[in-house]
Amino acid sequence: MIFKSINPFTKEVFAEHEVLTNIQLNKKLQLSESAFKKWKTTSFQERAGKMQKLAHVLRENKGKLGLLITNEMGKILPESIAEVEKSAGNCDFYAENAEQMLKDEYYDTSFKSISVYDPMGAVFAIMPWNYPFWQVLRYAAPAIMAGNVTLLKHAPNVIGCAKAIESAFLEAGFPEGIFQQISIDIPQVESVIASDIVCGVTLTGSEMAGSSVASLAGKHIKKSVMELGGSDAFIVLNDADLEKAATVATQSRMLNAGQACICAKRFIVTEKVADKFAALFAQKVQLLKQGNPLQEGIQMGPLARLDLADKLAKQLEKSLQQGAKLIVGGERENCNFQPTVIDFVDSNNVAFQEETFGPLATIIRAKDSNDAVAIANNHRYGLAAAIWSEDRENALKLARNIEAGNVFVNSLVRSDSRIPFGGIKKSGYGRELGTIGIKEFMNMKSLIIE
Ligand code: NDP
Repeated sequence: MIFKSINPFTKEVFAEHEVLTNIQLNKKLQLSESAFKKWKTTSFQERAGKMQKLAHVLRENKGKLGLLITNEMGKILPESIAEVEKSAGNCDFYAENAEQMLKDEYYDTSFKSISVYDPMGAVFAIMPWNYPFWQVLRYAAPAIMAGNVTLLKHAPNVIGCAKAIESAFLEAGFPEGIFQQISIDIPQVESVIASDIVCGVTLTGSEMAGSSVASLAGKHIKKSVMELGGSDAFIVLNDADLEKAATVATQSRMLNAGQACICAKRFIVTEKVADKFAALFAQKVQLLKQGNPLQEGIQMGPLARLDLADKLAKQLEKSLQQGAKLIVGGERENCNFQPTVIDFVDSNNVAFQEETFGPLATIIRAKDSNDAVAIANNHRYGLAAAIWSEDRENALKLARNIEAGNVFVNSLVRSDSRIPFGGIKKSGYGRELGTIGIKEFMNMKSLIIE
């Protein structure tokens, strides 16, 4: 079996990658085991030196690596390069902070009691194609700084990126087996989860993939972290700075051609300002330049795969049949999906209920701020949300009532190495990033000395 790298803009197949046989896969698992035995005994200082070198290798090669991302999944080149830079920043962050984050914790008892954090083995990661570098370095930098090793099963359309990340680790001086990419097919996933060297599994992807992998993790009693889909609310209240909100709304929905779990998807606007916001938003979306992701000045490339564009086109068609009103865009050719805005959507509409993974923005009108929060919460997903209001105190109060893992006031929802990131409900569980992120796959061991 072969995975293909297909440029979604030109449709050219530019690389092919063989899937590992079970014998080859077993060898990789054995290598993980032997690498872990040595790696867990290394000092934070030694790990940090290599992690900083990795950040350097990524930055040195950001042009080449950015081009690879664009060719494999279609995002515009400046966004690809920025992704490599952000990934390098995450390596630096954990190189500088891992030791402090994992320091021993002492308890106030009459005898001596301490918690220590021990690495546990190989973290198995199943990752998607939408941020092929960031999603990987986001979990891998903390895992490796903590003394674990890792195996990556990347999405089949970005195996070139997976190989490039593995090469970067080796170039940075990490021993073989610390970071291994494994090109495997779905039926091989269980044997990896079941392997004794694998201490847990982290998945970023769809709800369906999450449900399947979490079941396997449960079956084999392995810890799991699930970072799944979302249908993030972007709430605009009467007293919001509408111009700014519309600018950030455009960015938040259309970034990466709308293919991010934390892209704003449902724009919930109070009735009094809905017409004005919709007009401003539509105007800005209409100005976006779509085309060849390598061409300067282009702001949006194609979707990553034809089936993703097909799915979005069907969702749009159904939402219009169900009464939504098209106000911008709506056309689609191959993987190129026009930036689109629909208005007058209600909670029964497919564009409200399902995750729309592409440049389709959905406006929902709310009676008032409490109604807006209720509409935001009336959903199976709970990843992130944004709320726009000039009354920051009130916005913060409302933010506390929003059912999501992250809520931003007057700002673009984004991930940050310093801040825990993750969702609730069908958006998953567990957290990445911050201090909690590095502890997810550690044995917090209590030592009691009488
Ligand atoms: P998937 O969830 O199918 O793929 C993400 C990763 O999970 C890939 O590596 C994929 O591998 C793997 N995977 C999928 N099914 C299983 C399984 N049963 N067992 C083990 N691994 C599995 O996403 P798609 O690429 O198909 O995109 C479809 C939808 O997923 C999008 O429309 C979007 O809604 C959502 N999505 C959400 C993302 C997020 O960041 N939250 C990221 C990407 C997608 P393989 O391709 O080999 O199946």
